Amino acid sequence: MKKKGLLFIVSAPSGTGKTTLCRAMTRIFPDLNFSISYTTRPRRPGDKNGRDYHFISPEDFQKMVAGGEFIEWAEIYGHRYGTSRADLESIRDEGRDVILDIDVQGARQLRDKNLPGIFIFLLPPSWKELKRRLSNRRTEGKAAMEDRLKKAQGEMAEARWYDYVIVNDKLEMARERLKAIILAEHCRRERMMQAMENLIVQK
Ligand code: ADP
Ligand code: 5GP
Repeated sequence: MKKKGLLFIVSAPSGTGKTTLCRAMTRIFPDLNFSISYTTRPRRPGDKNGRDYHFISPEDFQKMVAGGEFIEWAEIYGHRYGTSRADLESIRDEGRDVILDIDVQGARQLRDKNLPGIFIFLLPPSWKELKRRLSNRRTEGKAAMEDRLKKAQGEMAEARWYDYVIVNDKLEMARERLKAIILAEHCRRERMMQAMENLIVQK
C-alpha cells in the first residue's frame, strides 16, 4: 500500500503572500498538489475556474455542505469557501502531498478533527508592508481592503497555535523557509520507518 501524502495547511492575513508562496511550492515539488477550493465568491479578473477555485453558486455550495462533502468550510468576507474531502483524500491516497491555502477558521476545524496536518502561518514583515501589498494587488476596493486589514489583527493572534511561522519579508527567503519545512517534514523519523527498518534487517 502506498504511503499517504502529507497535508500542509498555510494560513495568513489576506495580502501576505500565501497564494504566491503556495504556487511556488507546487513548481518546486512535482508531488505537491495545490488543493482547489470551492467558493461562492465572484471571479476576479484573471481568476480561472478549476485552476484558482471551483466557482459555484450559493445553492450548490449549500448542497455540498448538506451532503457533508467539505472537510472544512468557512464564511469569509460574505462568501463561502470550502475544501472537498474527496478531492483531498484522493490526492493523499495516491501518495502525493497536498498544500491548502485556507483561512484560520478552516485551519482550526482541521486541527480540531485531529487531522495529521502540518500547520504553517505566514506573517507580513510589517503592517505598512501588508497595506502596500494589498493595495498593489488592486483586487479589492478601499472598503474591502479596510475589512481585510481589520480582520488581520485577529488572524495574526491565531499564529500562536500553528506548528511553524514564516515571515514573508524577502520572497526568496520565505520560499526557502517554506521549502525547508516541507523537506524536513519528509525526513521525520516516523515517516522514514519503512526505509530504516528495511536497511536494519538486511544487515
Ligand atoms: P494572499 O494569497 O496571502 O492574499 P498574494 O500571494 O496574492 O497574497 O500576495 C499579495 C501581493 O503581494 C501580490 O501582489 C504578490 O505579488 C505580493 N507579494 C507576495 N510576497 C511578496 C514579498 N515577499 N515581497 C513583495 N511582494 C510580495
Ligand atoms: P480570496 O478570496 O482572496 O482568494 O481568499 C480569501 C480567503 O479565503 C483567504 O484567506 C484564503 O486562504 C481563504 N480560503 C480559500 N479557500 C478556502 C477554503 O477552502 N477554506 C477556507 N476555510 N478558507 C479558504
